[in-house]
Amino acid sequence: MNCLFKDSGIDDFLKDASNFRGSCDGVFFPENHDDVVSIITEANELKSKITVAGNGTGLTGGRVPLSGKVISLSKLNSLLEIDKVNMTVTASAGIILKDLQEFCESNGFFFAPDPTETLCQAGAVVATNASGAKSYKYGATRNSVQELDVVLPCGDTLTIKRGEIFANGNVMQFNSASGKKYLFPLLDIQMPNVKNSAGYYSKPGMDLIDLFIGQEGTLGIITKCKFTIHPVPETLFSCLAFFDDVADSLSFIEYFKSEENTSLSPRALEFFDGNALRFLSEDYPLCAGDYASGVWFDEECTNAGFDKLTDEYISVLNKFNCHDDNIIPAFDSKTHLLIKEFRHAISYKINEFVASKGLRKLGTDTAVPSEYFTSFYFSCQNGAEKSGLNHVSYGHFGDSHLHLNFIPENDSQFELGKSLYREICKLAVEMRGTVSAEHGIGKTKTDYLEIMYGEQGMKEFAKLKKVLDPNLILNFGNIVPEKFFTI
Ligand SMILES: Cc1cc2nc3c(=O)[nH]c(=O)nc-3n(C[C@H](O)[C@H](O)[C@H](O)COP(=O)(O)OP(=O)(O)OC[C@H]3O[C@@H](n4cnc5c(N)ncnc54)[C@H](O)[C@@H]3O)c2cc1C
Repeated sequence: MNCLFKDSGIDDFLKDASNFRGSCDGVFFPENHDDVVSIITEANELKSKITVAGNGTGLTGGRVPLSGKVISLSKLNSLLEIDKVNMTVTASAGIILKDLQEFCESNGFFFAPDPTETLCQAGAVVATNASGAKSYKYGATRNSVQELDVVLPCGDTLTIKRGEIFANGNVMQFNSASGKKYLFPLLDIQMPNVKNSAGYYSKPGMDLIDLFIGQEGTLGIITKCKFTIHPVPETLFSCLAFFDDVADSLSFIEYFKSEENTSLSPRALEFFDGNALRFLSEDYPLCAGDYASGVWFDEECTNAGFDKLTDEYISVLNKFNCHDDNIIPAFDSKTHLLIKEFRHAISYKINEFVASKGLRKLGTDTAVPSEYFTSFYFSCQNGAEKSGLNHVSYGHFGDSHLHLNFIPENDSQFELGKSLYREICKLAVEMRGTVSAEHGIGKTKTDYLEIMYGEQGMKEFAKLKKVLDPNLILNFGNIVPEKFFTI
């Protein structure tokens, strides 16, 4: 097994896409599950820290080591297998999402979780419970996970199949492959009823597999994943629409959430504010114009039903004052691709811009219950306007999920953006929402997790971590900062 040591090219592993930086003594590159087991077993015996690295596209410093060694899963990529009858795909944890998606598509299927960044690894997508545009219809990664192979922090292993092991009320019990018994109470926390990737999953009677989804590598290393997949639809209706009034675009999105309006069933409902459209207009002249906002959406359909669906959507758009001239339906593959690229470009462009200034990204990842979303959105936007900071908003508004990105030009603006960010998190929590709907907590958002669950909740997280990782070796610093292990 390959291993790099300090001063021999480990620099890439000291950061992720958040620009948070750390340090470590070396990087292991295991090639199979057994390699992972032996690295972890030894580290646990020596009580030395191990940080798990996916492909470093994370936005919260989750894979950034604070000390000890890194275990990169990039060489754990030998397995990619489809079962067309049961509609599942099985992948080694280090398989790149883009490869997994292309593999499924070449077999006539698709993998629903579609984070904008496709260079991430399958295991990391599970570890962060990532989601994307299609989550509006298909839910976050959690909904697609059928089975996981996990190496626990003591080196013990576990294959968990969905539907096999449930908590008995608030008590979880399972045996690892070696027969070691784990028995512990679930967390005394109330998770928000929104799309959520903040902290550990905990619900009475929960399925054990859900504990290992979104745990950000703190409870175990995922080495293999089996996911549900879906047949590729006959065709897709995809459309970009621009509005002169933001309120109309929000009402258009809300329209689909009403139980009465079920004849249309979008798969994705994505929003861009006027600043986002202007930010993109140089590269994408299709959104140049003095629009207040834009919405991109798509729906799976049949060729026979395409025209009817188009007419229905246009009529709903008209109802919300979006006129025909402002509607760009994708009638050909070129427009389809252009719209898709446009939709993905915004987060890349913002990251690029912020990195070019040598600053850290300040992008919220908040979601609130649908009934509060309009009020939440306008409060956040008004605060951002008043601050005078440059800002750009977009997000998965079908899931009431807002990415408000401050674009600070200097350190003092960065500090101001940070305090506003905190206020936005507080508001999301007051509205019974989450501080992280998809990116996770990592090391950079632990303060926000504390806003959500308080000191008591953080101590609960620490207690659970200690049950599975008594020596605190694995991904230390993610989700629960050190101080909660000592108080
Ligand atoms: C431009 C851009 C757009 C993005 N868009 C989205 C989006 O739309 N939706 C979204 O959800 N995210 C998005 N992200 C964030 C990121 O892509 C996801 O969080 C992704 O899941 C990280 O994958 P990675 O392989 O890069 O993991 P890393 O950044 O390397 O690691 C992420 C976390 O997972 C842990 N981890 C990695 N592999 C394993 C494993 N096998 N077992 C246990 N723990 C593990 C790491 O320790 C770390 O805590 C975006 C990022 C960028 C840069």
